[in-house]
Amino acid sequence: MSISSLIEADRKHLIHPVVNYRAHEARGVTVLESAHGSFVRDIEGNELLDAFAGLWCVNVGYGQQSIVDVAAEQMKKLPYATGYFHFGSAPAIELATQLVERTPASLQHVYFTLGGSDAVDSAVRFITHYFNATGRPRKKQFISLARGYHGSSTVGSGLTALPVFHRHFDLPLPQQHYIASPYAYRGDFADDAALISAQVGALEAKVAELGADNVAAFFCEPIQGSGGVIVPPVGWLKAMRDTCSKLGILFVADEVITGFGRTGPLFACEAEGVEPDLMTVAKGLTAGYAPMGAVLMSDEIYRGIADGSGDAAIGHGYTYSAHPVSAAIALEVMRLYHEGGLLANAASLAPRFAQGLDALLDHPLVGDSRHRGLLGALELVSDKASKAGFDAALQLPERIAAAAYRNRLIFRAFGDNILGFAPALSYTAAEFDLLFERLRKTLDEVL
Ligand code: PLP
Repeated sequence: MSISSLIEADRKHLIHPVVNYRAHEARGVTVLESAHGSFVRDIEGNELLDAFAGLWCVNVGYGQQSIVDVAAEQMKKLPYATGYFHFGSAPAIELATQLVERTPASLQHVYFTLGGSDAVDSAVRFITHYFNATGRPRKKQFISLARGYHGSSTVGSGLTALPVFHRHFDLPLPQQHYIASPYAYRGDFADDAALISAQVGALEAKVAELGADNVAAFFCEPIQGSGGVIVPPVGWLKAMRDTCSKLGILFVADEVITGFGRTGPLFACEAEGVEPDLMTVAKGLTAGYAPMGAVLMSDEIYRGIADGSGDAAIGHGYTYSAHPVSAAIALEVMRLYHEGGLLANAASLAPRFAQGLDALLDHPLVGDSRHRGLLGALELVSDKASKAGFDAALQLPERIAAAAYRNRLIFRAFGDNILGFAPALSYTAAEFDLLFERLRKTLDEVL
């Protein structure tokens, strides 16, 4: 197909995630054709530096031949194995074992999904099953954070607290509730301790309002991603975990973005010694080379479900759960993080990323720079003192992203005057320099 017929066919037939459909029809698709290392090439031959790892997932960079080889080998050997009827495959079992070994000690059992949304959905189903099976059927209310993102399934998009995911969808569901986001830049907190104590207080108050006997769980991202890369202070995650234990509700860490080295350690929970009751992962698990996610749970939850169900089957399953090709890919991706040196590379270059973002605080458009590991954001303001943002109608982040594209750089423009960055863990020092050279040039151009 020619470029123009591809664009026309896309306009007619392909529905894209989270775009305005009419705006997309007017604009037309940008077709990406190939990629290598940290660069993607569009169909017109433009080589673009990807500073967002696809959609914060291609953590190992593009074109990793060893992944291609294991995928081809697994496809030849056993392209599919169901988990139904007590069947399984060696890669899936090995991957479950590795995940249990490498995640916090509380997590002992793994259920594989196709991505993050169905991992969150599965977590909610397992939690409701657990409380029913263990004689606490009233525990059905869920609490999450404003600005949180937990996927696009019916349940997950309700735990999500971004208005665009609710509008016209009749969400949230009646059992979904929110507390404020740990958003230091836009909050009025004397210091980190004050922010943490306000957050603990908000969770306690929400649980008191709903009644602890009615609340099942608190869901959070250790660093909020799609809500604009909101980086809470160190100590926040542990404080929220401990508050959940105190209140007798489950603590679920959604590490779909923060997992697999994105924030430094393999999982963000590790940095604070946090042991969640459940954890959801996806994205970096297969680094985008194939779809896969997982929900991990504690032995207590697993046993509650297993022992509370008598002889009946537990009715939760997907045709492609624990897909052997995705599992083989994930095993190779895990090898690249560890033996392949990518976690170490990311750790050694994270200060360069941080310095590059912080250096832009001198730019007239930039009010805030925040980051942890290789996850970061700049927040744009029209006035640094008052922190006033730009009117949404100006579409400044979108205009900056379009200008960046002309400068051969891709990152994420969020609606709220926020630019998000999540370079691959395989970035080189020279690529970080190129990122910030192109970014500053772009910001100067739109000024
Ligand atoms: N949870 C979090 C924290 C996410 O960031 C995402 C996706 O960005 C999801 C869940 C949903 O994952 P997926 O898009 O793979 O369904």
